[in-house]
Amino acid sequence: MATIFTKIINREIPASIIFENDKVIAFKDINPQAPIHILVVPKKEIPTLNDITAEDSEYLTAMYLAIKDIAKDLNISEDGYRVIANCNTHGGQEVFHLHFHLLGGQHLGPMLS
Ligand code: IMP
Repeated sequence: MATIFTKIINREIPASIIFENDKVIAFKDINPQAPIHILVVPKKEIPTLNDITAEDSEYLTAMYLAIKDIAKDLNISEDGYRVIANCNTHGGQEVFHLHFHLLGGQHLGPMLS
């Protein structure tokens, strides 16, 4: 089902888009949890990690390649960064269109703190 991320992909609502190609779009999170907080979203409506199939491999590869390129562009490759995907209720997923959170710009501390 279409979510707010599809509306961003279709330019129906605004977003601070920082990267785009035929498979992926990436934009700034509206509620950043770190100095750099980017959402990396496939241009295919895959609701959750549970819904990924082997047919989606090109999208997943494109997402990771986008993360690598964005991190380099934002100059956080060397210091490092964190990539998170939330899944369903216990994972804290709010938007049911697969996405990776790319977080960086400071030392992020232990994973579950
Ligand atoms: P989730 O909890 O992994 O589903 O994360 C959804 C993320 O989308 C949250 O970090 C929200 O702040 C973010 N978000 C929701 N709506 C928008 C928007 O319109 N633009 C950018 N980020 C959004």
